[in-house]
Amino acid sequence: MKLVLLGPPGSGKGTYSSRIAKEFEIPHISTGDLLREEVKKGTELGERAKEYMNRGELVPNEIVLEILKQRLQQPDCERGFILDGFPRNLEQAKILGTIATIDLVIYLDVPDEIIIERLSNRRICRECGAIYNLKSMPPKVPGKCDVCGSELYQRDDDKPETIKNRLEVYREQTKPLIDHYKEKGILAEFKIEKEIPVEEGVESIKKLIQEKLNK
Ligand code: AMP
Repeated sequence: MKLVLLGPPGSGKGTYSSRIAKEFEIPHISTGDLLREEVKKGTELGERAKEYMNRGELVPNEIVLEILKQRLQQPDCERGFILDGFPRNLEQAKILGTIATIDLVIYLDVPDEIIIERLSNRRICRECGAIYNLKSMPPKVPGKCDVCGSELYQRDDDKPETIKNRLEVYREQTKPLIDHYKEKGILAEFKIEKEIPVEEGVESIKKLIQEKLNK
Protein backbone atom coordinates (compact mmCIF):
# COMPACT_ATOMS: atom_id res chain seq x y z
CA MET A 1 0.00 0.00 0.00
CA LYS A 2 1.45 3.32 -1.08
CA LEU A 3 -0.01 6.32 0.68
CA VAL A 4 0.59 10.06 0.69
CA LEU A 5 -0.47 12.37 3.49
CA LEU A 6 -1.04 15.85 2.11
CA GLY A 7 -1.78 18.99 4.09
CA PRO A 8 -0.42 22.27 5.39
CA PRO A 9 2.42 22.39 7.91
CA GLY A 10 0.99 21.55 11.31
CA SER A 11 -1.98 19.62 9.92
CA GLY A 12 -0.85 16.48 11.75
CA LYS A 13 0.92 14.74 8.86
CA GLY A 14 3.81 13.59 11.06
CA THR A 15 1.68 12.45 13.98
CA TYR A 16 -0.86 10.60 11.84
CA SER A 17 1.71 9.12 9.44
CA SER A 18 3.69 7.52 12.24
CA ARG A 19 0.51 6.03 13.73
CA ILE A 20 -0.84 4.77 10.40
CA ALA A 21 2.60 3.35 9.53
CA LYS A 22 2.55 1.26 12.71
CA GLU A 23 -1.03 0.07 12.15
CA PHE A 24 -0.37 -1.06 8.58
CA GLU A 25 3.25 -2.13 9.14
CA ILE A 26 4.72 0.09 6.45
CA PRO A 27 7.55 2.63 6.79
CA HIS A 28 6.78 6.27 7.51
CA ILE A 29 8.86 8.39 5.17
CA SER A 30 9.03 12.09 5.99
CA THR A 31 11.18 14.14 3.62
CA GLY A 32 11.39 16.80 6.36
CA ASP A 33 12.85 14.21 8.78
CA LEU A 34 15.22 12.87 6.09
CA LEU A 35 16.42 16.41 5.37
CA ARG A 36 16.85 17.26 9.08
CA GLU A 37 18.89 14.06 9.43
CA GLU A 38 21.21 15.21 6.60
CA VAL A 39 21.54 18.63 8.26
CA LYS A 40 22.38 16.99 11.60
CA LYS A 41 25.01 14.77 9.97
CA GLY A 42 26.47 17.82 8.21
CA THR A 43 26.46 16.18 4.75
CA GLU A 44 26.84 18.25 1.61
CA LEU A 45 23.15 17.78 0.76
CA GLY A 46 22.24 18.80 4.31
CA GLU A 47 24.36 21.94 4.10
CA ARG A 48 22.64 22.93 0.86
CA ALA A 49 19.15 22.16 2.23
CA LYS A 50 19.62 24.02 5.52
CA GLU A 51 19.39 27.57 4.18
CA TYR A 52 16.06 26.89 2.43
CA MET A 53 14.61 25.11 5.45
CA ASN A 54 15.55 27.93 7.81
CA ARG A 55 13.71 30.40 5.59
CA GLY A 56 10.66 28.15 5.38
CA GLU A 57 11.13 27.69 1.62
CA LEU A 58 11.06 24.47 -0.34
CA VAL A 59 14.40 22.75 -0.79
CA PRO A 60 15.23 22.38 -4.52
CA ASN A 61 13.61 19.31 -6.06
CA GLU A 62 16.88 17.62 -7.05
CA ILE A 63 18.11 17.55 -3.42
CA VAL A 64 14.83 16.17 -2.04
CA LEU A 65 14.53 13.62 -4.84
CA GLU A 66 18.06 12.36 -4.33
CA ILE A 67 17.36 11.74 -0.63
CA LEU A 68 13.91 10.24 -1.26
CA LYS A 69 15.07 7.88 -4.00
CA GLN A 70 17.79 6.50 -1.72
CA ARG A 71 15.19 5.87 0.98
CA LEU A 72 12.67 4.22 -1.36
CA GLN A 73 15.32 1.75 -2.50
CA GLN A 74 15.57 0.24 0.96
CA PRO A 75 13.97 -3.20 1.30
CA ASP A 76 11.37 -2.16 3.88
CA CYS A 77 9.61 -0.12 1.17
CA GLU A 78 8.73 -3.22 -0.84
CA ARG A 79 5.44 -3.65 1.04
CA GLY A 80 4.55 0.00 0.55
CA PHE A 81 5.03 3.21 2.51
CA ILE A 82 3.40 6.35 3.75
CA LEU A 83 4.88 9.60 2.46
CA ASP A 84 4.71 12.65 4.70
CA GLY A 85 5.71 16.02 3.24
CA PHE A 86 6.25 14.72 -0.28
CA PRO A 87 5.21 15.68 -2.92
CA ARG A 88 5.08 19.40 -2.18
CA ASN A 89 4.74 20.81 -5.70
CA LEU A 90 3.43 19.64 -9.08
CA GLU A 91 6.83 18.70 -10.44
CA GLN A 92 7.50 16.43 -7.46
CA ALA A 93 4.04 14.85 -7.90
CA LYS A 94 4.76 14.13 -11.56
CA ILE A 95 8.14 12.59 -10.77
CA LEU A 96 6.62 10.52 -7.98
CA GLY A 97 4.11 9.21 -10.53
CA THR A 98 7.00 7.83 -12.57
CA ILE A 99 8.65 6.01 -9.65
CA ALA A 100 5.62 4.64 -7.76
CA THR A 101 1.89 4.01 -8.17
CA ILE A 102 0.18 5.82 -5.34
CA ASP A 103 -2.99 4.13 -4.07
CA LEU A 104 -4.40 6.93 -1.96
CA VAL A 105 -3.66 10.55 -1.09
CA ILE A 106 -5.20 11.67 2.20
CA TYR A 107 -5.68 15.40 2.39
CA LEU A 108 -5.79 16.88 5.89
CA ASP A 109 -7.86 20.03 5.63
CA VAL A 110 -7.13 22.16 8.70
CA PRO A 111 -7.93 25.88 9.20
CA ASP A 112 -5.11 28.41 9.69
CA GLU A 113 -6.03 29.24 13.33
CA ILE A 114 -5.46 25.62 14.39
CA ILE A 115 -2.23 25.39 12.39
CA ILE A 116 -0.66 28.49 13.91
CA GLU A 117 -1.63 27.42 17.41
CA ARG A 118 -0.23 23.92 16.84
CA LEU A 119 3.05 24.95 15.24
CA SER A 120 3.91 27.52 17.89
CA ASN A 121 3.28 24.96 20.66
CA ARG A 122 4.97 22.03 18.91
CA ARG A 123 7.98 20.44 20.58
CA ILE A 124 9.97 17.48 19.28
CA CYS A 125 12.24 14.92 20.88
CA ARG A 126 15.87 15.33 19.79
CA GLU A 127 16.46 11.59 19.87
CA CYS A 128 13.34 9.68 18.79
CA GLY A 129 11.41 12.44 16.98
CA ALA A 130 8.22 12.00 19.05
CA ILE A 131 5.95 15.02 18.62
CA TYR A 132 4.31 16.93 21.51
CA ASN A 133 2.08 19.96 21.85
CA LEU A 134 2.59 22.08 24.97
CA LYS A 135 -1.19 22.63 25.25
CA SER A 136 -2.98 19.63 23.79
CA MET A 137 -0.38 16.86 24.17
CA PRO A 138 2.20 17.97 26.75
CA PRO A 139 4.99 15.64 27.91
CA LYS A 140 4.56 14.15 31.40
CA VAL A 141 7.79 15.82 32.59
CA PRO A 142 8.25 19.34 31.14
CA GLY A 143 10.95 19.43 28.45
CA LYS A 144 11.50 15.64 28.43
CA CYS A 145 10.28 12.97 26.03
CA ASP A 146 7.79 10.44 27.50
CA VAL A 147 9.17 7.70 25.23
CA CYS A 148 12.94 7.99 25.70
CA GLY A 149 13.49 10.75 28.29
CA SER A 150 15.57 12.91 25.92
CA GLU A 151 15.37 16.67 25.61
CA LEU A 152 12.53 18.31 23.65
CA TYR A 153 13.22 21.21 21.29
CA GLN A 154 11.37 23.68 19.10
CA ARG A 155 12.16 23.49 15.40
CA ASP A 156 13.76 26.71 14.09
CA ASP A 157 11.14 26.85 11.36
CA ASP A 158 8.30 26.72 13.92
CA LYS A 159 9.06 30.31 14.93
CA PRO A 160 6.34 32.89 13.95
CA GLU A 161 8.04 34.58 10.96
CA THR A 162 8.96 31.29 9.31
CA ILE A 163 5.53 29.80 9.97
CA LYS A 164 3.98 32.63 7.93
CA ASN A 165 6.32 31.92 5.05
CA ARG A 166 5.71 28.18 5.17
CA LEU A 167 1.96 28.74 4.97
CA GLU A 168 2.40 30.97 1.92
CA VAL A 169 4.63 28.40 0.23
CA TYR A 170 2.01 25.75 1.01
CA ARG A 171 -0.80 27.82 -0.53
CA GLU A 172 1.13 28.65 -3.67
CA GLN A 173 2.97 25.42 -4.40
CA THR A 174 1.45 22.50 -2.52
CA LYS A 175 -2.29 23.25 -2.52
CA PRO A 176 -2.60 22.77 -6.31
CA LEU A 177 -1.83 19.09 -5.67
CA ILE A 178 -5.32 18.67 -4.22
CA ASP A 179 -6.87 19.16 -7.67
CA HIS A 180 -4.12 17.12 -9.32
CA TYR A 181 -4.93 14.06 -7.19
CA LYS A 182 -8.70 14.72 -7.30
CA GLU A 183 -8.51 14.48 -11.08
CA LYS A 184 -6.64 11.21 -10.75
CA GLY A 185 -9.48 9.93 -8.51
CA ILE A 186 -7.22 8.99 -5.59
CA LEU A 187 -7.87 11.86 -3.17
CA ALA A 188 -9.64 11.32 0.14
CA GLU A 189 -10.40 14.39 2.24
CA PHE A 190 -10.31 14.55 6.02
CA LYS A 191 -11.68 17.85 7.27
CA ILE A 192 -10.61 18.91 10.75
CA GLU A 193 -12.70 21.83 12.03
CA LYS A 194 -11.67 21.78 15.68
CA GLU A 195 -9.00 20.09 17.80
CA ILE A 196 -9.80 16.41 18.19
CA PRO A 197 -7.96 13.67 20.12
CA VAL A 198 -5.23 12.02 18.01
CA GLU A 199 -6.94 8.64 18.44
CA GLU A 200 -10.12 9.95 16.82
CA GLY A 201 -8.17 11.30 13.85
CA VAL A 202 -6.29 8.02 13.42
CA GLU A 203 -9.59 6.09 13.36
CA SER A 204 -11.04 8.42 10.70
CA ILE A 205 -7.96 8.04 8.51
CA LYS A 206 -7.97 4.26 8.95
CA LYS A 207 -11.59 4.26 7.74
CA LEU A 208 -10.65 6.23 4.61
CA ILE A 209 -7.89 3.70 3.87
CA GLN A 210 -10.15 0.68 4.49
CA GLU A 211 -12.82 2.13 2.19
CA LYS A 212 -10.20 2.47 -0.53
CA LEU A 213 -8.89 -1.07 0.04
CA ASN A 214 -12.40 -2.53 -0.09
CA LYS A 215 -13.15 -0.94 -3.46
P1 AMP B 1 8.37 19.32 7.21
O1 AMP B 1 9.06 18.59 8.31
O2 AMP B 1 7.63 18.39 6.29
O3 AMP B 1 7.51 20.46 7.70
O4 AMP B 1 9.52 19.98 6.31
C1 AMP B 1 10.40 20.95 6.85
C2 AMP B 1 11.11 21.68 5.73
O5 AMP B 1 11.86 20.76 4.94
C3 AMP B 1 10.18 22.37 4.74
O6 AMP B 1 9.76 23.66 5.18
C4 AMP B 1 11.08 22.44 3.51
O7 AMP B 1 12.05 23.46 3.64
C5 AMP B 1 11.81 21.10 3.58
N1 AMP B 1 11.07 20.03 2.84
C6 AMP B 1 10.49 18.92 3.36
N2 AMP B 1 9.93 18.17 2.40
C7 AMP B 1 10.16 18.82 1.23
C8 AMP B 1 9.82 18.58 -0.12
N3 AMP B 1 9.10 17.50 -0.50
N4 AMP B 1 10.24 19.47 -1.06
C9 AMP B 1 10.96 20.56 -0.72
N5 AMP B 1 11.29 20.87 0.54
C10 AMP B 1 10.90 20.01 1.52
